Amino acid sequence: MNHMNLLFEAATPLLYWYAASARDLPWRRDRDPYHIWISEIMLQQTRAEAVKPYFSAFLEAFPTPEALALADDDVLNKIWQGLGYYSRARNLKRAAQEIVSLYGGKVPDDYRQLLSLPGIGAYTAGAISSIAFGRPIPAVDGNVLRVVTRLTVTEDDITTQTTKDRITQALSEVYRRIPEESANLTQALMELGATVCVPNGTPHCGDCPLAEMCLAHRYENETAYPKKAPKRARVISDRTVLLIRCEDRFAIQKRPEKGLLSGLWEFPNVEGCLGTSDVEEWLCSLGLQLTAVEQTRRAKHIFTHIEWHMTGYRCDVLNTIKTYTWATAEEIFERYSVPSAFRAFLQLLQ
Ligand code: SF4
Repeated sequence: MNHMNLLFEAATPLLYWYAASARDLPWRRDRDPYHIWISEIMLQQTRAEAVKPYFSAFLEAFPTPEALALADDDVLNKIWQGLGYYSRARNLKRAAQEIVSLYGGKVPDDYRQLLSLPGIGAYTAGAISSIAFGRPIPAVDGNVLRVVTRLTVTEDDITTQTTKDRITQALSEVYRRIPEESANLTQALMELGATVCVPNGTPHCGDCPLAEMCLAHRYENETAYPKKAPKRARVISDRTVLLIRCEDRFAIQKRPEKGLLSGLWEFPNVEGCLGTSDVEEWLCSLGLQLTAVEQTRRAKHIFTHIEWHMTGYRCDVLNTIKTYTWATAEEIFERYSVPSAFRAFLQLLQ
């Protein structure tokens, strides 16, 4: 049996299993393309349970593409705060603006048009096309790659585009044979990958509807798949983070509009691990009159390609300067979107 046939054979038990076992998730209650799109973007880096409250809050604030297109950036970032990868929120707004200007406010039922929108790649375009519009187009993400490579013991490196294309092609053939099941097939594959054929640790093969036909299970070699080339080591960046306080207000600043954590708010910080006298010298050079400097905590934040190793200082000053925005702890928590990279220092404000 070749891989395509094996995938086709797997479709029936998988669909029966999904019909009986699917979790009740808010974005599965209708097939509104806007809802599917928002949920898929949120789910890209976050577990379903964690996404639920964000999904409801987001739709309450921005119930339509028109509302999202007009979103205030700070309000949007605040609603997104905690989900991370803020570029997703910015791209949602940009895509909503295009949906309003080019498609009359309706998410387009066209794979190519979806793909041309900011933040929508092959996976999301496939998910919207199949789940919302019932088109026979697969959505291939890490969950799906894992299920397919275990089922078929694919030895190819899943981080390459060639492997993704090959698997997408094989799944497309299955979708074309049962186009009426496109929406369920996409969701069933995702669900199996998220709940049974899990990524870390041993998959729950005893609960899997595909156990009898799964080749990795037959060879008792499930965790050897998927195959991945080793990742490049992350760059380590030392940073010094300053909690500068003048009476009850703290200095914050907006990050540049481009690059890492763009457009979000942060405590003043510089590259390198400064000593107390370096911090004093730097603040004096900015025109701040210091009364106390004290090292607080160290913290680490891991991004995809870089790690920040941060050393914090609490600095009491007598005057404010225009370089920074000055806000009380309450205002910082309520109004400003400070990314989780600074969580350890935010806790010191409480
Ligand atoms: S039998 Fe195990 S390894 Fe194979 S698809 Fe099911 S959960 Fe994954």
